Amino acid sequence: MASPVSPRPTVLVVEDEANIRELVSLHLRLEELVPVEASDGDGGLALARERRFDLIILDLMLPGLDGVTVCRAIRRDSPNADTPILMLTARREESDKVLGLDSGADDYLTKPFGIRELLARVRALLRRGEASQARAAAGSATGPVSYKHIEVDPARRRVRIGTRDVGLTFNEFELLYVLVSNPGIVFSRESLLSKVWKDQTFVTVRSVDTLVKRLRKKIESSPADPDVILTVWGAGYKAADV
Ligand code: CA
Repeated sequence: MASPVSPRPTVLVVEDEANIRELVSLHLRLEELVPVEASDGDGGLALARERRFDLIILDLMLPGLDGVTVCRAIRRDSPNADTPILMLTARREESDKVLGLDSGADDYLTKPFGIRELLARVRALLRRGEASQARAAAGSATGPVSYKHIEVDPARRRVRIGTRDVGLTFNEFELLYVLVSNPGIVFSRESLLSKVWKDQTFVTVRSVDTLVKRLRKKIESSPADPDVILTVWGAGYKAADV
């Protein structure tokens, strides 16, 4: 079977400040990536609904539709439902809001940012996207998992609790999938870091705790007294035995 020539990855850049947009695009081109630019939320969403991208860089504060609204719309209904999204925010508090609000963004970068940091995040997210596509293509070892009342379907990137669909970010999904695929098995923070974040270098073991906390808020009926993702003191985390 001849493997198709892999085209250069395309990146949708949604940013209203022309100088930032152009700077980002310039550096993406230098990385052999193909940027497609939009200068407002409506334009960005229209492009995201038209075709699939390998990555989306999305400014939070945009004229018209804001970044969170665009992000949610992309996740809900577009060919980019599982495309990695990097959100650009102006302040730290906004970054927290972006991730806390279940916008569906995978990562964020606070302005002003250095171009090297941007490119490091871009590369990490692109690698992650490739890994999940490869896994989806590999099939069997990566099939849907039923755990108690939770259904996790990696091909569709869908999580269902009872009859309710739950929107998770890329990392939240990966973390849940690792744990519920192996009920009762304890994973150390370090091992979860390498499984969920792969080779991203800007995260620490504290990121695991933060992610667990966010995930519990979405999937546990009582996040303070979880019955799915349990803390194993001094060791790490596990999905409760079934
Ligand atoms: Ca802006």
